[in-house]
Amino acid sequence: MKTILTGIRANSVLTLGNYLGALLPMVRLSNKYSKDYNVNIFVPDLHSIISDVDGDLKENTIRTLKYYLAAGLEINENVHIYRQSRVPAHSELCWILNCVATMGELNRMTQYKEKSDGKASCNVGIFDYPVLMAADILLYSATYVPLGEDQFQHIELTRNIAERFNHKFGEVFIIPAETKEQVEFMGVEKPIRIRDLVNPEKKMSKSTASENSKIMLDDEPFKAAKKVMSATTDSFVEVQFDFEKRPGISNLLYIEALITDTPLDEVVKKWQGTTRYGELKKQVANSVSEMLVEFQKRLAEISDKQVLELFEFGEKYANEVANQKLIEVQKAFNLR
Ligand code: ATP
Ligand code: MG
Repeated sequence: MKTILTGIRANSVLTLGNYLGALLPMVRLSNKYSKDYNVNIFVPDLHSIISDVDGDLKENTIRTLKYYLAAGLEINENVHIYRQSRVPAHSELCWILNCVATMGELNRMTQYKEKSDGKASCNVGIFDYPVLMAADILLYSATYVPLGEDQFQHIELTRNIAERFNHKFGEVFIIPAETKEQVEFMGVEKPIRIRDLVNPEKKMSKSTASENSKIMLDDEPFKAAKKVMSATTDSFVEVQFDFEKRPGISNLLYIEALITDTPLDEVVKKWQGTTRYGELKKQVANSVSEMLVEFQKRLAEISDKQVLELFEFGEKYANEVANQKLIEVQKAFNLR
């Protein structure tokens, strides 16, 4: 059985970008494929500690898993939910892969450049986390790793590390699918990238300081609607979909399509060429706030106990699969 795997750092409450770019696509894929695929959803809590954590990490972890359930994740025996730190094989394999990955390739990672930019010094974890991510993926022989656009470079890195390893030590790792196939599997034309509402040339990120830049999943719906109404658009006369030249308005069209599960073409056709900027903003503000009302209602109904039971099942499974792969790797390295 092939494996689909994904994780979201639980550093704080998530944004609409995390929800539309990573969480919802994974929930839809899982519900569609979990009869025939293994589905692994984990909280990369060891990735969380490369930067400051807002709140209590243990509580954030539980809340993040609740998000998946609130977004409609259906559970069956092929769906595994676990905490990375409860499966020590992740960090063990990371160390081994550190001896396969090169400084040059890690230096080229955009996320590293962005996260270390302007800092006098940054921790080694920020530089090395793509290798831990490779371990997260390779331990479970995952073929599909549905993630937002910013993480695709790390999937490429994972493929390179695994290919190099296999070439040198024998066919130990299953190579994850390449970007094009990943995107096709996600059923989208391009990896999803929701933009910052104030600076739409950047992506929406939970670590961005400006509150108006991002919609948080715990925002009061009316407050989220206000943020949409004050989003940066452009000073042209007519609405046009063009992420290069008009990222702000395009972002709103894109958000509307994803939230309402309508093909982007259809949404664009409705608004393109019109001068109704204000009306479009109102429509998107409405869709966002309705989505939040529903989502927050479902979230409140999920108990910690439900999540802890899922961890128990998932972590048993994860340790079995991961330890088996780790032993193969140790043998290939002559450690065992
Ligand atoms: P941080 O600022 O701490 O890096 P983040 O918002 O970028 O936070 P991550 O934890 O790095 O969130 O990423 C979690 C998942 O959400 C990943 O799959 C990532 O690709 C996806 N994601 C993050 N931001 C966006 C976005 N703006 N649009 C689409 N997907 C996104
Ligand atoms: Mg990020």
